[in-house]
Amino acid sequence: MSTAQSTLSPFPAPETPAALVTGGSRGIGRAIARTLARDGFQVFLTYASRPAEAEKTVAEIAAAGGRARAFALNVGDSAAVADFFAEEIKGKANLAVLVNNAGITKDGFLVRMKDEDFDRVLAVNLRGAFVCSREAAKIMSRNRSGRIINIASVVGQMGNAGQANYVAAKAGLIGLTKSCAKELAARSITVNAVAPGFIETDMTAALPDETRASYVESIPLKRMGLPQDVAEAVAFLASDKAAYITGQVLAVNGGMYC
Ligand code: NAP
Repeated sequence: MSTAQSTLSPFPAPETPAALVTGGSRGIGRAIARTLARDGFQVFLTYASRPAEAEKTVAEIAAAGGRARAFALNVGDSAAVADFFAEEIKGKANLAVLVNNAGITKDGFLVRMKDEDFDRVLAVNLRGAFVCSREAAKIMSRNRSGRIINIASVVGQMGNAGQANYVAAKAGLIGLTKSCAKELAARSITVNAVAPGFIETDMTAALPDETRASYVESIPLKRMGLPQDVAEAVAFLASDKAAYITGQVLAVNGGMYC
């Protein structure tokens, strides 16, 4: 089950719109959590196994005058997700935004990819987003408003050798986005995806220099993206300015796939 970490400011404040960011402890999720806090949301952020990183994000948000709390939650564990919503969100927070950001890779060529590596990546990246969306939709439907934002990937749009599991999950996430958008529109809930290109985080830090250079060469803007580039797109979709946008995929990829 989830474990609450300390927070430096009152939490939750039921009247303040809340944003839940899965995998909000590091990388893109951290930038999203900080940016949504900047924009006035109290942030529930989850992490898998690195409490120190999560606490760092909470402390950064608190230092900037925002409210956040971190929870250990494996989004690949559906029962734990349901418990988390029941115990920490339902009736306690005004859930306005869900960002399905948690993701993992387990790369390998098709002929050598093990069933468990395929299943694990699908369980976290796709089923995790599905289960969080289902739980959030129950709450948002009652409020007749809400924003669900799924962090897909450019490779879910264009394919990528050596990532059959990850690409299948990210392409699935785009389908999930479009279906949920149609289903939840009647309740004034918008559902969109953001598809980042290659972004500077721990996930891409292990790339060999040669591979990194060839990726950068293929990007028209000639640089890797930054987590903040993605966070600002999410903040836009979470804002009132995006009220009439649903079922879309917003690419943040430096032009590498149009
Ligand atoms: P990252 O630096 O590896 O961070 C991943 C985050 O997800 C961490 O907060 C991690 O928690 C959390 N997480 C991992 N497994 C989890 C699980 N089972 N349950 C809950 N949380 C879990 O990754 P990133 O690069 O920021 O990527 C964030 C999202 O953007 C992912 O969905 C990724 O697929 C997508 N994306 C990334 C890129 C890129 O170039 N980086 C490009 C396109 C799309 P811990 O800190 O506890 O491990």
